[in-house]
Amino acid sequence: MVKLDDLEVGKLDWDPYEHTSKPNWCPGCGDHGILAALKNAIIELNEKPENVLIVSGIGCGSKLPHWIRTYGFHGVHGRVLPVATGARLANHKLTIIGIAGDGDAYGIGLGHFIHTMRRNLDIVYIVENNGVYGLTKGQTSPTSSKGFKSISTPEGVIDIPINPITLALSSGATFVSRGYAGDVKHLTKLIVDGVVHKGFALIDIFQPCVTYNHLNTYKWYNKRIYRLEETKHDVTDLEAAFVKAEEWGNKIPTGIFYNVEKPTYGSELPQIAKIPLVKQGISNVNIEKLMDEFV
Ligand code: SF4
Ligand code: MG
Repeated sequence: MVKLDDLEVGKLDWDPYEHTSKPNWCPGCGDHGILAALKNAIIELNEKPENVLIVSGIGCGSKLPHWIRTYGFHGVHGRVLPVATGARLANHKLTIIGIAGDGDAYGIGLGHFIHTMRRNLDIVYIVENNGVYGLTKGQTSPTSSKGFKSISTPEGVIDIPINPITLALSSGATFVSRGYAGDVKHLTKLIVDGVVHKGFALIDIFQPCVTYNHLNTYKWYNKRIYRLEETKHDVTDLEAAFVKAEEWGNKIPTGIFYNVEKPTYGSELPQIAKIPLVKQGISNVNIEKLMDEFV
């Protein structure tokens, strides 16, 4: 793992990764910090643009693949992980990063989230968690705090919010972390560590929506968050990770809650464990016979 102090953030050359079009997110949106951290991480990792695939869903943050020059797939709402799974099984040499908002990941895409974690597919999943549906103009989301008032819950939401960290810990994720869009350097390191990790890596990110979430603001987070790395937290201790994941209120942890190595889904499939599917020759395959058998 890289050390936070060793990161060259701020001195990096973004040119090879810059897109000609510029983000149209609101000024101050946390997504700007996430895009910056992602570019930093890809450069720190020495990844060539053509070796990275970013898959997104639908939402403000899911427009991100348009503004970074890697391979990108802007898919449909809630289906980031099925697309990323297909790409991962077809070519395990690619670095595959899924990007979704909290509505996308923890609402409509919740089933895919759980099943992808229990398979330990080697995918980095970045969730831009702003506690609101931003693109559709500010409705309550699965991670909105109890009592949160929005156009869909004007009297305050009654449901308790989903806790993505405990959910990931109980679903078999092997790398579970939380970042903050207002701390780009720390977030860069989390993304680097998530990519280096072999297996499913969740990076849930506090991403202030300056337009529709007036509760969880930069000021609100700055007062509360601290870094787990600056405590004695043991990232291999699942029980300790659950305890930290339940911490909420005046002090909220960011950083890596849990990080262990386990066999990945791809490494357990003999057909693709060594040679990626896309590199396997098909010249000696009798296509007609296959078609007769299956069609
Ligand atoms: Fe960002 Fe919110 Fe604006 Fe969407 S609506 S771009 S999430 S600040
Ligand atoms: Mg959202």
